[in-house]
Amino acid sequence: MKIARVDVFAYDLHYLHGTYVMSGGRTVAGLSSTVVRVTADDGLTGWGEVCPLGPAYLPAFAEGARTALRELAPAVLGVDPTNLALVHRAMDAALSGHAYAKSPLDVACWDLLGRSTGYPIATLLGGRHHSRYPLYIAVPMGAPEEMADYVRARRAEGLHRFQLKIGGDPLADRDRVERVLAATDHTDVVIADANGGWTLGDAAVAVRALAPRPRLYLEQPCASLEECLQVRRFTTLPMVLDEIITDVPSLLRAAGAGAMEAVNLKIARVGGLTRAKLLRDLAQALGIAVTVEDMWGGDIVTAAISHLAASTRPESLLTTSFMNDWVREHVAGHAPRSSAGFGATPDAPGLGIEVDAGALGAPVFSVGDEPA
Ligand code: MG
Repeated sequence: MKIARVDVFAYDLHYLHGTYVMSGGRTVAGLSSTVVRVTADDGLTGWGEVCPLGPAYLPAFAEGARTALRELAPAVLGVDPTNLALVHRAMDAALSGHAYAKSPLDVACWDLLGRSTGYPIATLLGGRHHSRYPLYIAVPMGAPEEMADYVRARRAEGLHRFQLKIGGDPLADRDRVERVLAATDHTDVVIADANGGWTLGDAAVAVRALAPRPRLYLEQPCASLEECLQVRRFTTLPMVLDEIITDVPSLLRAAGAGAMEAVNLKIARVGGLTRAKLLRDLAQALGIAVTVEDMWGGDIVTAAISHLAASTRPESLLTTSFMNDWVREHVAGHAPRSSAGFGATPDAPGLGIEVDAGALGAPVFSVGDEPA
């Protein structure tokens, strides 16, 4: 099998709950997502998607993904898409870094590998541990009572895991956490995520004000590993690291320093399912839990998440998010679809979803030829 053609599409995703607010005044109402379709010489197709959370969240942005894909797509033409090792060698030879732009090509090739062998990706990622797992949803930063109201509304829908956006004034953040905790009970998990937005001083004030609770986690309080390690000195709250875990060396450095109990693993940030599997397996071997998700995205991103989550040990899976529940637009009929706060992974080969190419409009660009 050889890659005959790569099409790159763009479509807009809109946040279902108004405006998504993170630390540092970063807000999102709509985002431009990039979809990649890889067509093999036998006519089989695979799909991947990357949607950076705006240009100021990580060193990644929508037009950056597309510009990088103009370098990457010609380099994979003629490569066997079921040989992920060669796909990555070709991508790395064409463009250094830019892991997030390589992610949709990687996922599209996993989809093709699954479709050509008849296996769902979860099987190919090591095997399915569970068919159903609890989801979490992010709670946009706002007034404490607004955040508590949002949590009550989502609990009524069946969700019991929440990631609160904090990272502002440390005592206001303490109030946000307290109000949300008061709106939950022992069946809930609450993760307070500053997205690296606190200074070390703010973090010290905040964590000293927050009494440890059995079901409360702290996520990425400050921007650097060194600062997050300092924060550990002021609190016994279990820690999740997210933005700074980008590859194997950063995971091992943080694990070696005893920096965290869990890692938030975003598939595109680490370069696709191939590297996400490696990091997931390493984390599991080190006794570190994982949150399985992505920067943002729709149905295709969610399908990839679902296969990584299904192949992660239940005891290692802190949370998962079905990001297609957070947005209005759907390119695969809102599949996979959550139910009452739980996610499930498709059984069909590959990603196990059917993408409606017509919903995506004309490609932004294409390379290669339609197979004869
Ligand atoms: Mg996070």
